[in-house]
Amino acid sequence: MSTSAYDPNNIFARILRGELPAEKVYETDRVLAFMDIMPRADGHVLVIPKAPARNLLDITPEDLADLAKGAQVVAKAVKAGMAADGLTIQQFNESSGGQVVFHIHVHILPRWEGVALRPPGTMATPDVLAEHAARIRAGFKAA
Ligand code: AMP
Repeated sequence: MSTSAYDPNNIFARILRGELPAEKVYETDRVLAFMDIMPRADGHVLVIPKAPARNLLDITPEDLADLAKGAQVVAKAVKAGMAADGLTIQQFNESSGGQVVFHIHVHILPRWEGVALRPPGTMATPDVLAEHAARIRAGFKAA
């Protein structure tokens, strides 16, 4: 499939409008970060711009810069809050590139030595997401 137009009813646009819930950890006038509901590692966070963009191919350079800056701030808090050894950052473009939700997002995955990522597709409980979100919120003070 080739690149298509932005769909304003994608899941993350609905989270931005408050129509769907999310376990939020960071928000500015430009970006929002929240827990991935199917975390591939404990503390898996998604960072999105508030501006509408499908992926890297249509986002404006200005909005991309805001997203990158937000991702760096959140990444440091995730590493500190989750006491991680490192981080894996992922960002997928179009179905063939692994993209499932068509509002650009950056995955921030805390990593620990010797611990593999979990396979995709397993939902975390709200309690687990809330516990990890609390650790990450505390991580902003420690980062
Ligand atoms: P991708 O488009 O492949 O980068 O992946 C989309 C990501 O969004 C996956 O990691 C999903 O687990 C995650 N996801 C899908 N729906 C929600 C939701 N309602 N809240 C939080 N994360 C979600």
